[in-house]
Amino acid sequence: MTIALYPGSFDPGTNGHIDIAIRAAALFDKLFVAVYDTPSKQLLFNTKERVDLFEKAVAHIPNIKVIPYTGLTVDFARKVGAKVIVRGLRMSSDFEREFEMALMNKKVAPDIEVVCLMANLEFQFLSSSLLKEVGSLGGVISTLVPKHIEEALRKKFSSTRKQ
Ligand code: ADP
Repeated sequence: MTIALYPGSFDPGTNGHIDIAIRAAALFDKLFVAVYDTPSKQLLFNTKERVDLFEKAVAHIPNIKVIPYTGLTVDFARKVGAKVIVRGLRMSSDFEREFEMALMNKKVAPDIEVVCLMANLEFQFLSSSLLKEVGSLGGVISTLVPKHIEEALRKKFSSTRKQ
């Protein structure tokens, strides 16, 4: 049985992330979507919200489990028995960083392989940060995230506007 881990900030998960998770779940016996607790970026959603939002988006895929984690990704991969770390690669922005990270992971955990799936053409331009920027300014985001994530974003933006 091959277990894979798809780690990220997922603040929030987008259709691009969800597409990668569903495609990875078709390749491996079990996929853990691992939501990183304390990324070095400023977050809009807390960890529980990020987990719940992603969970709802992939609830129809039985071999995906969404869980929070903290600490080194490779340590967490070992903890859940994952031999593979999945990442998504967008054409322009991701290669260098992912390559660097994969080499570092290989150094500290030679037993774990990093598998990169190419982002769907439709979602190449899509990032959580751009999504939040467009959403906060009232732009149309309904083709970029599932309905429940769009609603969660709208709610967050209206409550931050009121503050
Ligand atoms: P991180 O903070 O670890 O980069 P993200 O939540 O931004 O976390 O992304 C998690 C993974 O998903 C990364 O491998 C990233 O390259 C990938 N990813 C981000 N956006 C997309 C997208 N639109 N399509 C496919 N993969 C994506």
